[in-house]
Amino acid sequence: MSKPLNILFVSSEVDPFAKTGGLADVSSALPQAIKELGHEIRIMMPRYRFISERKFKLHDIIRLKDIPIPVGKNVEMGNVKSSFISNLKEKVQVYFLDNPNYFGRDGIYQSAVGKKDYKDNDERFIFFCRGILETLKRLGWQPDLIHCNDWQTGLVPAYLKSVYATDSFFKHVRTVFTIHNMAYQGAFPPESFGKSGLPEEMFHPDGVEAYGKFNFLKAALAYSDAITTVSERYAEEICTSDEFGAGLNGFLAKRRKDLRGILNGIDYQIWDPSSDEYIYRMYDVKSLEAKVDNKRALVNRFKLNFSESIPVIGAISRLVDQKGFDLVLEIMDEMMKLDLQFILLGSGEKSIEKKFEAYQKKFSDRMGVFFGFDNELAHLIEAGSDMFLMPSRYEPCGLNQMYSMRYGTVPIVRATGGLDDTVENYSGSEKGTGFKFEKYDAKELLKAIQRAVKVFQQPEEWKKLMRNGMVKDFSWEHSAKKYVALYKEILKQ
Ligand code: ADP
Repeated sequence: MSKPLNILFVSSEVDPFAKTGGLADVSSALPQAIKELGHEIRIMMPRYRFISERKFKLHDIIRLKDIPIPVGKNVEMGNVKSSFISNLKEKVQVYFLDNPNYFGRDGIYQSAVGKKDYKDNDERFIFFCRGILETLKRLGWQPDLIHCNDWQTGLVPAYLKSVYATDSFFKHVRTVFTIHNMAYQGAFPPESFGKSGLPEEMFHPDGVEAYGKFNFLKAALAYSDAITTVSERYAEEICTSDEFGAGLNGFLAKRRKDLRGILNGIDYQIWDPSSDEYIYRMYDVKSLEAKVDNKRALVNRFKLNFSESIPVIGAISRLVDQKGFDLVLEIMDEMMKLDLQFILLGSGEKSIEKKFEAYQKKFSDRMGVFFGFDNELAHLIEAGSDMFLMPSRYEPCGLNQMYSMRYGTVPIVRATGGLDDTVENYSGSEKGTGFKFEKYDAKELLKAIQRAVKVFQQPEEWKKLMRNGMVKDFSWEHSAKKYVALYKEILKQ
């Protein structure tokens, strides 16, 4: 092997420490997969108050105490603690940048009660981005490359190209930025720009400005050495459509040659029915009959009647516009006319929750809902459902459809982004791992569900579908190799 690389991976969410969605899964699994390939990779994230010092054995690093970090006219202090993740053979070190004023709160981006974005998210993530670089200097560890993820880390490339451009410590450090979702950009009023300490000339449509705002994501798109996103289809979509590109498609198109789609993998240490301790009974492709015990456990938990011949459709999701639950609501009555049961685990917009709650009351013998974040239940739903619903308006990659396939739970998805790249439509042939519909339209969704229910009634055919999904290789190794190849390209190694 050629020389191992030194990489710092930065993210605002890393499983198991802090998670609101797929970003946390990726930020945990990808660094571990890269480490397995023989590279030195470490992670840095904010230390939110709820990250338990005891549970995760966080320890202080004396050298990394009281690091002065400029934010606006002030200098805020950062302290760094450390821990490890070690699902695989190799441990990955995780640094937690702590500042109780910014991160000593119950939520990650929003207050736990009331679900309102924190008003000082600009300052919190200016502090984080600048703190990353100041910590590295204090640590004396010089990575070859910093891999940034989503807007919360978007200023790192901009700082390296300006405030730290003449700093010899960072002279050879390159950046890769991964877009996990274009809809979240970290766009703040222009006044916020003053707090960043970035030079005036960067507040420009070719720099950090977008539509008059100080846009953290845009900063990354403008100044990182390479950009990736989490599926090839989404890479194409965000350059060509206003809807997917969320206003930055024109700018992204200019950087198309530096933008690459690399599909996320799934972490088989966590998501594999043959070793999943959260589920009722483990199984694999050779012991499919054991899956049904999970179905029984799942429907019992929601106090529904168990019948092997009635399909259970599961869904686990953030309940936000992106995820397409307006389509589900539109066809709820029609869908429940079919002989099926529906179980939903979700959290998000109260208005969506309320509507599903009302339907649950209406169809209480065939529908179960749980509003909140419950990882253990998420595993049981994957194992216990027959089908999994993901009708997303857009989906950068999506993880749950891949988890579903691994669990023999056949996905019903809209053909967009990573859903389109990972699910093969069943059309009566040997091939196929799920059911896809193209147009964002409730009737199309209903037709896809009807098709699925019909095939479910042919048990032998259904088993084929289950097996086709279960044997697919969605391991991270493949994607990790692609990231390493990209790092090497940028570093010209
Ligand atoms: P996104 O990142 O857009 O939310 P993904 O499909 O990429 O969507 O990842 C979602 C991740 O979050 C999955 O691991 C899923 O199981 C988990 N998840 C989403 N909502 C919940 C919930 N209410 N309870 C438990 N896990 C959830």
